[in-house]
Amino acid sequence: MISDKVRVRIAPSPSGNLHIGTARTALFNYLFAKKTGGEYVLRIEDTDLDRSSEAYKQNIFDSLKALGLNWDEGPDVGGQYGPYKQSERFDIYPKFAQMLIDKGYAYECFCSNEDLDKEHEEANAKKIPYKYSRKCLNLTKEERDALKAKGIVPSIRFKVDSKELVFHDLVKGELKFDTSLIGDFAIMKSNGTPTYNFAVVVDDMLMKITHVIRGEDHISNTPKQILIYEALGAEVPQFGHLGMILAPDRSKLSKRHGATAVSDFIKQGYLTDALLNFVAMLGWAPSDGVEIKNVDEIAADFRIGELSSSNSIFEYEKLNWMNGQYIKKMDISRLTDLALPFLDCYDTSKYSREKLEHIIEVTREPITLLKDLVYDTQYFFEKPVYEEDSKEILKSDLSKTVLEKFKKDVLEYDFDNLEDVHNKLADLRAYFKENHGFKPKETMWAVRCKITGRTRGADMAAILNILGKEEVIERLSAV
Ligand code: GLU
Repeated sequence: MISDKVRVRIAPSPSGNLHIGTARTALFNYLFAKKTGGEYVLRIEDTDLDRSSEAYKQNIFDSLKALGLNWDEGPDVGGQYGPYKQSERFDIYPKFAQMLIDKGYAYECFCSNEDLDKEHEEANAKKIPYKYSRKCLNLTKEERDALKAKGIVPSIRFKVDSKELVFHDLVKGELKFDTSLIGDFAIMKSNGTPTYNFAVVVDDMLMKITHVIRGEDHISNTPKQILIYEALGAEVPQFGHLGMILAPDRSKLSKRHGATAVSDFIKQGYLTDALLNFVAMLGWAPSDGVEIKNVDEIAADFRIGELSSSNSIFEYEKLNWMNGQYIKKMDISRLTDLALPFLDCYDTSKYSREKLEHIIEVTREPITLLKDLVYDTQYFFEKPVYEEDSKEILKSDLSKTVLEKFKKDVLEYDFDNLEDVHNKLADLRAYFKENHGFKPKETMWAVRCKITGRTRGADMAAILNILGKEEVIERLSAV
């Protein structure tokens, strides 16, 4: 037995910011660990030093943490199976490669890139799938030593025997592969670094990973990995391959469809709770059909065997809707904390915390993204910018009549008392309806347009209450 406990991992390569698809894989692994009382490991797969960067690694850490997908073991928190960064494990892989050579499962290959390119071209010309020629399989020790003496550093290839390989995928069910199609593949490059397929197996084995849950883009790697496990005499973990996330046009989700990195979604004002909830629904469905659920509720309902093997469509529209639902329901203090960084274009210090929370409270209703608040709260922080339709409304005699009286009336308003402001505005509407036949909404438009520059916005009484007497009088007096 590898481990009595479930041990899962998320193994991103820091060659880009954390992709929303990787966040979903991380979430499913996290949920599975949570549900089973298992452990969830973060491993950074940075063997490709040219494509990996410290900035991307930091982005992966920050994004996973922002989503609340905190790991039990990993590069920063440590654990008993570290190091958790492959670049710090380079001394481990050659030992296992040598072991495979000694047992006859692998061999040194001296072919140059040019030799291999030629083999590829020949296969292409014959229109047959490429497989390594095995030119170096039967080199004698003398031949190998002679090549080494010439300064040629070999790579190491895994010797693939022909057989039918069958495994049970947790998501896709029984899968069969004909290994005769694979060809002997490299496990160590001539520069002494391991290939992905080799490093991942050695690490998952040493880290005692019991379940490998990942995207189905890795399914073609799985037979190679199983062959390596078998050759190492290690227990094969259970695999589960998730369907892919596709764009609404069913192509691969890419930047031209919208944000794809978790950090870009966050920058646009998506809430991490909504993002997590949304990605959980890509490939998994709650038993009660209620889609708005927090992570704990999802974890309680989650069953690994119910993950969908088909592809899911990333509907930005649905995510927007879900984000709006979270904005409407979120605790106001937390929402204000999240909203304030988006409002740094304004001098928010002119209001008390209490008033800032009130501003967010009265403007959040129609908001889809936190960045929408920049427009929706503008008139609280700056003088109104009069929009065309408001200018038209303010030109009318009706508006002038309303504002003439309103300007006098406000002197009597108790601005700090929201209820009083509410009642006084109701009186104003009633007065103009009775005496002038103005519709209540026409009366309110005049007031709203003058104070905010817009025909629509937050509750008018709340706006007056927040702005305060002095500011309201100043706006009414401005021409
Ligand atoms: N480093 C691989 C990736 O980012 C992870 C592969 C795996 O989960 O086995 O795609």
